[in-house]
Amino acid sequence: MIVDNSLDELKKRENALTIIKHFIFNKNRNALFDLTGLSGGFIATDQEINLLETYIGPAVFEEEIQKYGKIHLCGEKILPVNRTSSGILATILALVEEDSNVIHFLPEFPAHPSIIRACNLVNANYFEFDNINKFHILENTSLIIITGSTMDHKILDENLFKEVISQAKNHNIPVFVDDASGARLRTTIFNQEKAFDLGADLVITSTDKLMNGPRGGLMTGTKDLIDMVKVKANQFGLEAQPPIILAMLNALKEYDGEDLINAFSKKEDFIKLLETKFTNFQKTPTGVMISVEGLYNEVKRNNTNISVSKKDLSFIYSMILLKNEGIITIPAVSMPGASATIRFDLSTNDGKKLDLEVLFNKIINSFNELLNVVDNEEKCKEIVFNN
Ligand SMILES: *Cc1c(COP(=O)(O)O)cnc(C)c1O
Repeated sequence: MIVDNSLDELKKRENALTIIKHFIFNKNRNALFDLTGLSGGFIATDQEINLLETYIGPAVFEEEIQKYGKIHLCGEKILPVNRTSSGILATILALVEEDSNVIHFLPEFPAHPSIIRACNLVNANYFEFDNINKFHILENTSLIIITGSTMDHKILDENLFKEVISQAKNHNIPVFVDDASGARLRTTIFNQEKAFDLGADLVITSTDKLMNGPRGGLMTGTKDLIDMVKVKANQFGLEAQPPIILAMLNALKEYDGEDLINAFSKKEDFIKLLETKFTNFQKTPTGVMISVEGLYNEVKRNNTNISVSKKDLSFIYSMILLKNEGIITIPAVSMPGASATIRFDLSTNDGKKLDLEVLFNKIINSFNELLNVVDNEEKCKEIVFNN
């Protein structure tokens, strides 16, 4: 294995960031195409930034985020946190007791690693289901978690969503929805209801995903539960800081979902183009993806000897896409434990600018380079870590 643990993932990410820096300084920003769907946006006027230097600014922005956060997520009280992972941790610290059970229902495995890590931290027992027929609520359950849309953008069917919530209500157990991308994908593209309106007690979304905001988590819920989570967030420094709240606020004001809807139809043309050459790309709501298994099968089709693991193939391909073609996808830059699926999101600012033929050629060129190197482990290591 080339990328075998969290430390390896960290080194891979550092190498990717170095490559990105080289693009910016030796070429220019236009040579890079960020198709991750994570924008890291920071919209703010000079006037607003000046306000941050006083105590007045935070007061204004924290007040305003209550209003715009509720427009986006509904609920009784809004809590901005540093990351979605931070909000998940704060929620589990606040609501989950030692030895109690946490039950997670999601449309498809795997779950986001922060959920499992947080359960381990409080010594809770974690159970997960992606099949409603197997889903059941155990005695001594302190929290039910629902993922509305997975890391790979697999969407939960709204009827299943309602079914899990109704079972939780029967047992009087709070429901926490991880709607990191789902708060927009489910509602804007699939016309589903907001998670709070479906009966969730707590909801979190990522202001970085499919909207032009900073990496951060935005929570809503009933006032009592949000207050409990907020106390934990403050105790452990997990809350969002004023500059992030300002950028979240402006991204919320600007969000209209039109880019998502346009990408939803554009990906149909793109998948047709890809299918002239590949057989393992799949559609996502706003683009295309190739899974770890899919990429492995695609490489196998070319009768190549492979001397690296399946997952390594994804990291290597993602790094080649970045280094040779300037295409940024998640496996190159991700934090440890994130999905290794390679997703090309067409709703992104760079995705909107990129001609589909041009992107198609970049994907083919990088794939041919991948075929050239997969039988050479040393060469692959060099691509991933630059050492
Ligand atoms: C992205 C994501 C997270 C975590 O977001 P971070 O910004 O990395 O903390 C959690 N859950 C799901 C389903 C996600 O897609």
